[in-house]
Amino acid sequence: MILKIEKYPAPVLRAKGKTIAKITAEIRELARDMIDTMEHANGVGLAAQQVGRALQLAVIDVLGVEDRPSTMSVEGKPVALEKWMPLSLLNPKLVLGGLRETGSEGCLSFPEITSEIERAASVTAHAMLLDGREVEFEATGLLARALQHEVDHLNGILFTDRMSSANRVSVAGKLKRLQKDAK
Ligand SMILES: [Zn+2]
Repeated sequence: MILKIEKYPAPVLRAKGKTIAKITAEIRELARDMIDTMEHANGVGLAAQQVGRALQLAVIDVLGVEDRPSTMSVEGKPVALEKWMPLSLLNPKLVLGGLRETGSEGCLSFPEITSEIERAASVTAHAMLLDGREVEFEATGLLARALQHEVDHLNGILFTDRMSSANRVSVAGKLKRLQKDAK
């Protein structure tokens, strides 16, 4: 089912997601609907806040973005992304690598806004999967970026918070328009 995507400045986007203690049928259905919604909108990631639910749940799919490669390793061994995408991550935690890189980012809650954002070039992620398995994996490239963007959402942090002040000025007009559209 395709869900409605909350647009900036919806207050739920600023809410910190509640930890998911138990994987219920409702949570599994929400994750499935979020994947449908993300694919329908051609996004690479979606957080529960973006569909109006303040929960620690995010979905990611970086397949098909050929110009922006990703790597993923489990226990130090590279794995095939096809086997892992789309990812549904519950209660994810990240440890950021030391190297930083700047790359272009958009957000389904901010239509028509893209900006260069500096992020860690690699991350180690720890999360629970929908089958209850706990996983830890390393990611680089677009996947590392998407993980940081989505985990930010789960904590009520938006990509505008991560923009340089110059980039924030350059998108200010579009942000104002979104605020006006919401009224
Ligand atoms: Zn976003």
